[in-house]
Amino acid sequence: MSAVEYRIEGPCAVLVMQNPPVNGLAQAVRTGVMEALDRALADAEIKAVVITGSGGHFSGGADIREFNTPKMEAAPSLHDLIAAIERSAKPVVAAIEGTAMGGGLELALACHYRVATGKSVIALPEVKLGLLPGGGGTQRLPRVVGLELALNMIVSGTPVPAAKLAQTELFDAVVESGAVAAASQLIADRLAAGEVPVLVRDRKLVHADAEAFLDIARLNVRAMAGAYPAPMACLECVAASTSKPFDEGLRFECEQFTLLMNGEESKALRHAFFSERAASKIPDVPSDTPLRRIDKLGVIGAGTMGGGISMNFLNAGIPVTLVEQKQDALDRGVATMRGNYERSLKKGKLSQDKLDTRMALLTPSLSMEALADCDLIIEAVFEEIGVKQQVFEVLDAIAKPGAILASNTSTLDVDRIAGFTRRPADVLGMHFFSPANVMKLLEVVRGKATAKDALATVMALGKKIGKTAVVSGVCDGFIGNRMLEPYVREALFLVEEGASPQQVDKAMERFGMAMGPFRVGDLAGNDIGWSIRKRRYVERPEMFYPKLADRLCELGRFGQKVGKGWYRYEPGRRDAIPDAEVTALIDSHRRELGITPRALSDEEIVSRCVLALVNEGARLLEEGIAARASDLDVVYLSGYGFPALRGGPMHYADSLGLYNVARSMRGYAASAHGDRAFWTPAPLIEKLAADGGTFN
Ligand code: NAD
Repeated sequence: MSAVEYRIEGPCAVLVMQNPPVNGLAQAVRTGVMEALDRALADAEIKAVVITGSGGHFSGGADIREFNTPKMEAAPSLHDLIAAIERSAKPVVAAIEGTAMGGGLELALACHYRVATGKSVIALPEVKLGLLPGGGGTQRLPRVVGLELALNMIVSGTPVPAAKLAQTELFDAVVESGAVAAASQLIADRLAAGEVPVLVRDRKLVHADAEAFLDIARLNVRAMAGAYPAPMACLECVAASTSKPFDEGLRFECEQFTLLMNGEESKALRHAFFSERAASKIPDVPSDTPLRRIDKLGVIGAGTMGGGISMNFLNAGIPVTLVEQKQDALDRGVATMRGNYERSLKKGKLSQDKLDTRMALLTPSLSMEALADCDLIIEAVFEEIGVKQQVFEVLDAIAKPGAILASNTSTLDVDRIAGFTRRPADVLGMHFFSPANVMKLLEVVRGKATAKDALATVMALGKKIGKTAVVSGVCDGFIGNRMLEPYVREALFLVEEGASPQQVDKAMERFGMAMGPFRVGDLAGNDIGWSIRKRRYVERPEMFYPKLADRLCELGRFGQKVGKGWYRYEPGRRDAIPDAEVTALIDSHRRELGITPRALSDEEIVSRCVLALVNEGARLLEEGIAARASDLDVVYLSGYGFPALRGGPMHYADSLGLYNVARSMRGYAASAHGDRAFWTPAPLIEKLAADGGTFN
């Protein structure tokens, strides 16, 4: 299939971009459009050109498969195409159906006319990757939709249906269907009328009080953008469209685009975007592996996790049988789910119809036999190996052949659980995060014996229910919690040395974490970490733990649920208020250890906490628990509140330079209080640092 089909329809040449799935402007497409345009211009019989796309889409913009390859920059560029269209002696019409986004919309904006179907989706979404529309979008869009609308669209990147823009000058016609036929008709009419089209670049931008409007917009965008530079750069480019001649505005847009493109934030956001796509690919599992059918789901345990897990599938239209031991627990679980849906209903996020449809897909039951016809059964019962054993032995007896058996365990050995059945190839872990109906991350735990098709099926299902699924091998804590443990431990060492919990939290929050480690502890419940540590003291006595958190738990300070933890909480409120009792506890703990507190800089706090994640992450890679460093980044970005503008811990380490990372770690090994052995850089870091390499 050629990248652009050339067809003659009466006096029009129709150019059809063909690059599934959304006609991204790959080099072949750009070349094809240019050649087809030249052909039309050279043909005296042709009076006008219609550009459109195949497969129901105009164009989704840059072809992401060419990102970071020389093809991305190769001529003809989008700018070359735009210039050629604007110089064309014959009028060019964009016939838009489906998607017209980014560079696709910018191409359309260069055309002499635009016709769209009402349902087409229009956007300049570059800001979401920390960029701005660099193909003239910031200069042309305000000239056709007005300053305010253009600013909203460009700063937010939000898609807008063409029907909503029908009253603007963006479109010369918005039709129900048949954009190409409508475009041909429009051009015939305009040619017959002898109309001379005015290019968007030559139109005047009229706004009664652009400066005053922009001043207010600056305040709002600055507050909304925080540390992200792209939204303000978008705003200043749109502002330039009001104050500068067109070509000067274009030059300004180009400069700003280059600055963003080379900036750390956009690199991090682009890394995050590509990492998420990469996470769905499993190196030794072919992408065309036949998947098992999942038409019916079973969930065991209607507690905190089981209810939330079930909701994901009900939301996706998949029937769920939910099994509990006792009627009251089952009723409670179902009531909680209904309550969640009713809250969405009250907020206007869900219709009564949808609520009823979803609840109708749920079959609550007290009998494990009810799971006999399920294609996938997820166990979310108590975190005790004996209970898991009992459940999996029963499942082995009753589940149909080929059913996938999954455990939501956070800490137990999935291989051991698989060993409770005679079908370990069908067993894997599906580690959801709480609240399971909200959190994006899903760790899919691959056991030693897990079949490739079972793994591929669950990864695909994860996507279907809107999760970001990442494969983890079997280890204590899987990827996320295993990296979290040294991070939290380091935060505790920092407090023993002289920082306060609030200083650590503030430093990490300024770095961009959604919440500092002590606030997270209070939210999740400090008793959870306590029970894990108690297990560690027995199983791995060589591990070195700060005892401060145990002292806190001995006082019953389990966190928000009891109104006190590292902070205190007023009834019904979540504001973390520093508490003198905690300060006194920390002081006496330091005295017991003979530590004279010292002042710690925020920089040291951030470095030690983040590098603790990085060192453990490197070990996970060495052990083959994670397939690639970017998977670790995805886990932290989607499940642990790591700031997107840092691209994940491993990307952040790359940006620091692994030589510098290893050097800092050696420094902590020599001087920091705490587990000095931990700070020996993982061999992978030493190797990459020596070779000048990176994780990603
Ligand atoms: P929970 O105590 O809230 O719920 C467990 C439910 O399982 C209870 O309602 C109990 O009645 C039911 N149950 C126990 N044995 C059963 C059996 N044999 N048959 C049917 N039902 C049975 O626990 P939870 O927080 O939902 O945790 C469940 C699992 O999910 C655990 O393995 C836990 O480690 C894991 N997990 C929990 C979280 C979290 O934040 N709570 C996060 C990730 C994973």
